[in-house]
Formats: sequence, C-alpha cells, structure tokens
Amino acid sequence: MAHICIHWFRKGLRLHDNPALIAALRDCKELYPVFILDPYVYNARVGLNYWRFLIGALKDLDCSLRKLNSRLFVLKGKPEDVFPELFIKWKVTQLTYEYDTEPYSLSRDKTVTALAQNHGVRVIYKISHTLYDIDRLIEENDGKPPLTYNRLRELAKKLGPPKKPIPSPTSADMKDIKTPFSDKHEAKYGIPTLEELGLNTTSLGEELFPGGEQEALRRLDEHMKQTGWVCSFEKPQTSPNSLSPSTTVLSPYVTFGCLSARTFWWRIAEVYQGKKHSDPPVSLHGQLLWREFFYTASVGIPNFNKMEGNPVCTQVDWDTKAEYLAAWREARTGYPFIDAIMTQLRQEGWIHHLARHAVACFLTRGDLWISWEEGQKVFEELLLDGDWALNAGNWQWLSASTFFHQFFRVYSPVAFGKKTDKYGDYIKKYIPRLKKYPAEYIYEPWKAPRCVQQAAGCIVGKDYPYPIVKHEVVHKKNIQRMKEAYARRSPAQSPVKKQGVKRSTPSILDMFQKKRKTE
Ligand code: FAD
Repeated sequence: MAHICIHWFRKGLRLHDNPALIAALRDCKELYPVFILDPYVYNARVGLNYWRFLIGALKDLDCSLRKLNSRLFVLKGKPEDVFPELFIKWKVTQLTYEYDTEPYSLSRDKTVTALAQNHGVRVIYKISHTLYDIDRLIEENDGKPPLTYNRLRELAKKLGPPKKPIPSPTSADMKDIKTPFSDKHEAKYGIPTLEELGLNTTSLGEELFPGGEQEALRRLDEHMKQTGWVCSFEKPQTSPNSLSPSTTVLSPYVTFGCLSARTFWWRIAEVYQGKKHSDPPVSLHGQLLWREFFYTASVGIPNFNKMEGNPVCTQVDWDTKAEYLAAWREARTGYPFIDAIMTQLRQEGWIHHLARHAVACFLTRGDLWISWEEGQKVFEELLLDGDWALNAGNWQWLSASTFFHQFFRVYSPVAFGKKTDKYGDYIKKYIPRLKKYPAEYIYEPWKAPRCVQQAAGCIVGKDYPYPIVKHEVVHKKNIQRMKEAYARRSPAQSPVKKQGVKRSTPSILDMFQKKRKTE
C-alpha cells in the first residue's frame, strides 16, 4: 500500500543527509513536508536574530522543495494539537522525523507517536542530528555518559567513523509522489514574515549569516577549499577578537540542521586525505567531537541544564545580583573587552568560542559570581547557534562546575583580549564611543588621565561606565569561594581529577596559554 506521509521538519532543516525524509519517500504517493511553529520552542526567549535565521532557513527549504514539485506546510500550535487534525484531514498513514535528544523533544515526540498510533499512523524516525547514535555511545560506556573528552574519543573510535551522509532526494525520487497544495497555499500554510509574527525588526542589523541549507553548503565549500587552513586548524590558535570570524561559523547551520554534522565530518575527511593534519581535540574533526561529547553528556546526565538535581555539577552558592546580570547582558560592565563581546553577540548573534570563554568566566567564577544558568538563558536568547546541550555543557565547563575543574585559572578581562588584539581594534568596532582611545588605555579606559579621556571624547563615569567590579580583588575572593564549594562536593561531583592535579591532556585554555607564552 502506498503511503500518505507527513515528513515533520523540526531541526534537520535540509534535504541532504536526511534519512527520515528518504524513508518518507519509500512507497509513498503523497508527501506533506510540515514545519510547526511550536510556542514551547519558539517563544519570547528566542531573540530576533534567531527568528530571522529560522525564517530564512524555512524559505530556503521551501525553495528546495518546490524544485521537487513539493511545498513546505507551516503551521502554528502545539504539535499534539496540530497533528490529530492533520492525520484526519490528509488521511495520513505515515509520519517521519529526525530523532532529537532534548528532553522536551523526547516527551513531545512520545506524545505525538502515541497520537499517531491512535490514528493508525506508522511512525519512523532516524538519527542524523549527531555523528553517532548517542544512546549507542552511552551503551558502549556501560550505560554511563563519558565524562571526559578522551573517553568519548575512545568510544567513537570503537564504533568506527560516523556513517557516510546520504544524498538529497532528486526529481526522479519524487516521480510518483505528489504534494497536494492549492492556490491558497501561501495564505494557509505559507512562511510568516517576522512582522506577521509580531516582531519589531527595527533593531535588526545586517544579516551576516543568512539561514538555510544553500548558504550552509556554500559556506562549507568555501572553507573546505582552503585545504591548508583546514589541515592546520588548531582551535586555540584562532582569535576571539578578530574583525572577521577566525573559525567556520557553521554552528548556526549545524544547530538548525541546515548542515548535517556527518556531511561536515566527511568533507573535512576528504580534505585531510593523504595530507598531514591537526588532530582532536584542537582540529576541526576535534570540534565536531566536542559537540558529540556534550550531546552524550546531555543525554546521560539528568537535569543537564540545571545546577540543582544535576548529579555531576558542583553546587555553588552563586549570588543573585540583578544589576550585575543586567550590566553584563547589556554590555555595561565597564570592561571594554567584555562589553565589546556582548555587543557583538547582541548585534550579530555569533561570537568566537574563546570570546564565549571570556564572558562566561567573567559572569560566573571569575568576577560577578552569578549562576551559569543565568548566562545560559542570555546565550539562548541571543545566539544564532543556541543549542540546548552545547549551551548547558559549555556553561558548566566555563564555570568550572562540571568537566573542567581548574577554577583557579581565571581569564583576565583586560589581558586576555590584548594577546590577540593589542590595539583594541575589535573594541573600537563594537564600542565606537571608545574608538579615539589610545591603545595604551583601550582595555582600561578608567586609567586614562582626564585630558586623554577628554581628547578621546569619552569620559569614564559619564559616557562609558566605570568597571562594575575590581577584577584584581574579586577574582581572588571568588577562587576562595570556589575552593569552599569544591570542599563541599560529594564524590559523585568529582568525577575526573582532583582539584589542582595537572591534567594528562591539556585543556583548550592550557594550550592557548602555552602557545601564546612561546610567541
Ligand atoms: P568551529 O570552530 O568552526 O567548529 C566547528 C563546529 O564544531 C561548530 O560549528 C560546532 O558545531 C562544533 N563545536 C565547536 N566548538 C564546540 C564546543 N566547544 N562544544 C560543542 N561543539 C563545538 N555552540 C553551539 O553550537 N551552541 C551553543 O549554544 C553554544 N553555547 C556555548 C556556550 C559557552 C559558554 C561556550 C564557551 C561555548 C558554547 N558553544 C556553543 C560552543 C562553541 O563556542 C561554538 O560551537 C563555536 O564557537 C561555533 O563557532 P564555529 O562554528 O565557527 O566553530
């Protein structure tokens, strides 16, 4: 019997390497590609840049589907309310989707699967958001999530290389399949504009990273052409404050699934073929394995996006200082390096990994002593690549709550940026008020004599804030507080190494600092 099938796009907004979509086309007579604007996922917490990226990705997807004589059907509402109506209206017999490991997605998919079964609809899902089947990695580790990157690498090695990506469907694959869409499609199932969604777009800046599979593949091609760069890529050697990105900025595309992680992996492998190249953890393959590491942790560790109830997370007595959090969020800390990063984040939706390190450390254990969960929320709103597992995992790392335990190593909000941008060009780009400051004071404008401040047209305390805290003083106090939090830890929260013991594998921070010292 030929099926009437809904393929449900959620993440995985692409045609290439989409095994669930290919499964949908098997024995199919009618295909309905569906995307649901689920208020739980797309809510007030999601920022404008993220919305713009999503709408762009949906338009691109619809455009690719049209080339196959199909269309995307966009609906609004809770999936558990939307689907029963569609099952009946379209006489659906099969539902396909890409497996998603986020807790909300798992419970949503369970509910929808039960509803589908009640309507006699067969459900097929496939794994293609990650390199590996995450549950399989956990199984391979005796049912526990690996808590170190090296362990994850060992497990990945055991399973062999990730599956090869599969090609996009072609017109030939769609020959006997139709998508019944009418002249009223646009009005009923069209992709809404940002304005139609009630968003005020006046604050939107230039669209530096347009959403969509075509742009993802174009960017991938562009990077992969630079074979020397790909082979010598070492993450710690890339710069947090270059004027244009020093890493691929493929993360938003991978997050929304406009780019398959496996396609990314295998394209890198092709470039490596027969050449000398860097290795994990610092190589480009290494970056994709970091993603896999945090995904595996997020599946295996309960309450992964929280401190409380998270069995491997150090319980810290973070302060709640609303005014500090607001100053950090709104780029008003008085530390130009930190404020420039937070400005870039708000305007463009992407910041370099080490820039994330700097602002995350500053908010938490370094300076402001505010919970990583607060930072996680701000990143979730402002990042184009905001990803439940990666955001939570990296925030735990940076706050030295989980995975990383060298809490006595604190980033300086002054010295760190200087290493790669002596003259503060990055600061001048994102905080134009400071653009006339001489290099000597650009990282510490409060130290400039009054006449220098006047000549630069920016008086500290009037045109730009004084530092919110004294880094030299607070970071020492915070190390002490962290020491106390570590002393209270139960053995379950100290899974890797004892505090202060040199790691056998250097961290990104170790490597970054080591390399810089030798320059
Ligand atoms: P590249 O260096 O070009 O790396 C290639 C790909 O590898 C990335 O696209 C990404 O998919 C993956 N990757 C790279 N670094 C990491 C990492 N540390 N952890 C996991 N995957 C990685 N990344 C997100 O995608 N979403 C998030 O919500 C997110 N939140 C973060 C929060 C904090 C506090 C920190 C410190 C890091 C966070 N990261 C997050 C990880 C990392 O900063 C970004 O993935 C990376 O900067 C994206 O830029 P890129 O695509 O140029 O990376």
